[in-house]
Amino acid sequence: MGQSADSGSALSFRLSKEQEALREVAQRFTRKEIKPVALKFEEENGDALAHQVIDRAAQAGLLGLPVPLEFGGGGGSNVECTLVLEEIAAGCGGIATAIGASWFGQTPIMMAANSQQRREIFPPLAARDHGLLCCMAMTEPAGGTDIENPHMKSRTIRTVVREDGDNYVVNGRKLWPSNSDNAWLYTVVATADPARGDEGSCLVMVPAGTPGLSFGHPIPKMGMVADRNAEIVFEDVRVPKSNLLGKIGDGARLLQRTLVYNRAGAAAIAVGVARGAFEGALQWARERITMGQPLAKHPVVAAMLGDMATGIEASRLLYQRSAWFNAQPGQASMLMATMAKVFASDMAMRVTTDAVQIMGAYGYAREYGVEKAMRDAKILQIYIGANEFSRQLVGELL
Ligand SMILES: Cc1cc2nc3c(=O)[nH]c(=O)nc-3n(C[C@H](O)[C@H](O)[C@H](O)COP(=O)(O)OP(=O)(O)OC[C@H]3O[C@@H](n4cnc5c(N)ncnc54)[C@H](O)[C@@H]3O)c2cc1C
Repeated sequence: MGQSADSGSALSFRLSKEQEALREVAQRFTRKEIKPVALKFEEENGDALAHQVIDRAAQAGLLGLPVPLEFGGGGGSNVECTLVLEEIAAGCGGIATAIGASWFGQTPIMMAANSQQRREIFPPLAARDHGLLCCMAMTEPAGGTDIENPHMKSRTIRTVVREDGDNYVVNGRKLWPSNSDNAWLYTVVATADPARGDEGSCLVMVPAGTPGLSFGHPIPKMGMVADRNAEIVFEDVRVPKSNLLGKIGDGARLLQRTLVYNRAGAAAIAVGVARGAFEGALQWARERITMGQPLAKHPVVAAMLGDMATGIEASRLLYQRSAWFNAQPGQASMLMATMAKVFASDMAMRVTTDAVQIMGAYGYAREYGVEKAMRDAKILQIYIGANEFSRQLVGELL
């Protein structure tokens, strides 16, 4: 899908017609299905409502976007997927996180699945009758940053797969993954031997409902409430050997490659969350009168709005450039994706905080949704590579 960005003039910032059309579908979906209920995700039964929205995203063809066309999906590259994540996040960061995390779990499958695995897994993930989610089960109770850190060479992974005849037996615990207890398929970051680092690392797929797979209660959180995070327990979970992605020893490399695509996704979610809050604050500032004129006419507020808009634009350029690299064969860039994620998430925290400030007490009130964006934004600086570690990584990759 989509024409490559370097056709025509040497430097083009235009989306293709197909990409524009896709963005409109996502915008319409967000306007109709997400914005009217975004605050309700945080109320009682909000989880059921969130899943209804995921079902509708499947019906609209958005959930299956990255699944290859031959399996009924949208065939979207990282460029199309990030465009859609921005639009959805402008309505609700939690729904965008649940969808982005499902794609996170699918990325290594896309990279390493053999043809039989692809035939089995992709059609259900592209199905439009209801939304099936994937879960990237990576983070463990002992810490997420170390697992994402290429220097740690997978040494901290404690989820173990043991060979037993034609099966692998999985034992271990994960904590925090998105779509933790409502996924259809779990892509599990594991090791065949914790002492072997990268060489023991592996990714294994565990279908929901496999005996021995259980979950803690969803963890109440500050934000991103439409996304479900809990402990996932693997207790003698037995899967056929054919559920391994690639071979033992591929896990760390696949995980690092996966992070590249999904850090661009996190940056797009950050832009969407920031934009949602910014649009609310801008409208407010144009209508609210203080000292006889609209807030937006006060020079300090105008400058704040200007900085917010600039931050959003700059972050969008970064994530789109990163996604563009990721969509070119052999050019996926950890450097670009990590830059985009750090810059955009810091921007989102700043912009959502300023949006609350501009709206005063109304910004602080639940009703207007801007304080939700501020709460949603915080985790963007932490998940899929805490920004302190990610900054260091950018410096090292230069
Ligand atoms: C809403 C949400 C969605 C999530 N989705 C997923 C998912 O889909 N899949 C999944 O597997 N996990 C997921 N996570 C977990 C998330 O990726 C981890 O929380 C994150 O990787 C950080 O790990 P940690 O919380 O264990 O913090 P730690 O690794 O303990 O780090 C804590 C803090 O210490 C600092 N720090 C740590 N290491 C370094 C370093 N090397 N240099 C400098 N500073 C450092 C950082 O400030 C960091 O924030 C999710 C979490 C949430 C809340």
